Amino acid sequence: MTTCIICHLGIIEGLHSSQDCPNGHLAHMDCLKEWLLHSSNCPLCREPYPDRIIAQFKDFIDQKETEKLVSIEKEAKQEDVKKMEQVASKIIFMKFLESIEILIKEGEFEYALSRLDLHNNGSTSIQMGQDILFLKGKINFMRGRFDLAINQLFKLVKEKYDHPEGFLYLGKAYEALGLDDKAKWAYERVK
Ligand SMILES: [Zn+2]
Ligand SMILES: [Zn+2]
Repeated sequence: MTTCIICHLGIIEGLHSSQDCPNGHLAHMDCLKEWLLHSSNCPLCREPYPDRIIAQFKDFIDQKETEKLVSIEKEAKQEDVKKMEQVASKIIFMKFLESIEILIKEGEFEYALSRLDLHNNGSTSIQMGQDILFLKGKINFMRGRFDLAINQLFKLVKEKYDHPEGFLYLGKAYEALGLDDKAKWAYERVK
């Protein structure tokens, strides 16, 4: 029995339609259809299929190519939406940080802290979590809770070593508690 060079199953005359390459290598029509999406050469001998064979599958190939384009476009659009959502949530978060800074300036420390706590419960990125941690430490320093400030700022700089402001307030908090060696250590890391 003749077998198909693509799927290696039998080609039964009268049941399967088949097509061969210029060197007589037979393949099921359905198998060849899929193969031609990837290559226009025979999978066995690499001889190009004549145009008249490829022409038979033109509609199918065109349709597949259109489908591919549509799905690429769709993916790109989904990416755009995702990016826009990220930008929007970043803007909202920046506005939130601005409102916290205003509260700090007005000396509304307790209220600012409670708002930061509420925000922390939501889904936040690593960056947002660090921003929140920094502000909590800074506020606790400003309201004289140096122990809490040290706790939060130390956690922050352990996570993000490159955070000059974090080290600055950490140093200030150590200094306020008379821990001069530790303050010096922190200040040295403010670039
Ligand atoms: Zn086949
Ligand atoms: Zn061939």
